[in-house]
Amino acid sequence: MARNAHLLEVRNLRTSFFTEEGEVKAVNDVSYHLDEGEVIAIVGESGCGKSITQLSVMQLVQSPPGRILGGEVIFSGQSLLQYKPTSREMRAVRGAGIAMIFQEPMTSLNPVLTVGQQLSEVIMVHARLSKKDAWKRGIAALEAVGIPDPAARMKNYPFEMSGGMRQRVMIATAVACNSKVLIADEPTTALDVTTQAQVMELLLDLVRRHGKSLIIITHNLGLVSRYAQRVYVMYAGKVVETGTTEQLLTDPKHPYTQGLLNSMPKLEGSKDDDLVPIEGSPPRLSNLPDQCTFLKRCPAAQTRCAESVFPDMRPVGSPGHSAACHLFGMSASTGVRG
Ligand code: SF4
Repeated sequence: MARNAHLLEVRNLRTSFFTEEGEVKAVNDVSYHLDEGEVIAIVGESGCGKSITQLSVMQLVQSPPGRILGGEVIFSGQSLLQYKPTSREMRAVRGAGIAMIFQEPMTSLNPVLTVGQQLSEVIMVHARLSKKDAWKRGIAALEAVGIPDPAARMKNYPFEMSGGMRQRVMIATAVACNSKVLIADEPTTALDVTTQAQVMELLLDLVRRHGKSLIIITHNLGLVSRYAQRVYVMYAGKVVETGTTEQLLTDPKHPYTQGLLNSMPKLEGSKDDDLVPIEGSPPRLSNLPDQCTFLKRCPAAQTRCAESVFPDMRPVGSPGHSAACHLFGMSASTGVRG
């Protein structure tokens, strides 16, 4: 990998689904990067393209109807989109390279096989170990993610475990394969509050102690504030703002990010009537306007917004902070703040 290169860099990625309704632009020119040992978050409402972006990176988008139409995915200096989804190279990336931890492990674990059978199968393929050694590494991985009595748990079926335990099994798979990047898709949605915190702490522990990098996909800005160093906010298939977590939480520039912050509880115990939901709903991805996709919901919209195409990402203050909004970088003659 070239010096100073990012561990994972996604440039101008585009993925669409071709349906009876027409082309659904789920990922529409998305760029982001991740460095070694870093925790980033991709935040947005459901259906904004944040999960499909990551499935595209791993070439796990179901095709048809999905298709990656363009862009680049560079991982450890390797350009991944040159490989077919079923190629040896992509299978290797999905093992020791990048692992995705899905929001509901019940759908990713096979209900008719024991946890041990599934875990050791993955380890055999990716670490090229014998069945016996893969089983042993499986036990070690369950232990590493804090599952008590791991040898006995290997013989359990997924339905014999709690939701939190199944989530840990998914994380153990990534640990056993020694994956460099973990992508946790809404890692805690299906879990109670205590288990949520435990799962997040476990993921962070892997970052701190084992030098992993972590991408948290979430709609929950609260989760971001505690765990991520940088954030990408997505809306209708595009990144609309990025910056450090502090920049986004204390000085959000894009009206959508401001709306997300206003619609989440600020302090424990704050009342529901302090929350201001974002009016309206996101545009249909099969029928996107040429203009800013947030136009119809935006309380700060200007005439210029309706007359111009979707704005480019522009720096909006301190280094690393940018937003795609016409309020920034407009010429003085428009009379709008730059
Ligand atoms: Fe609102 Fe205009 Fe900015 Fe879009 S470009 S978010 S409509 S102010």
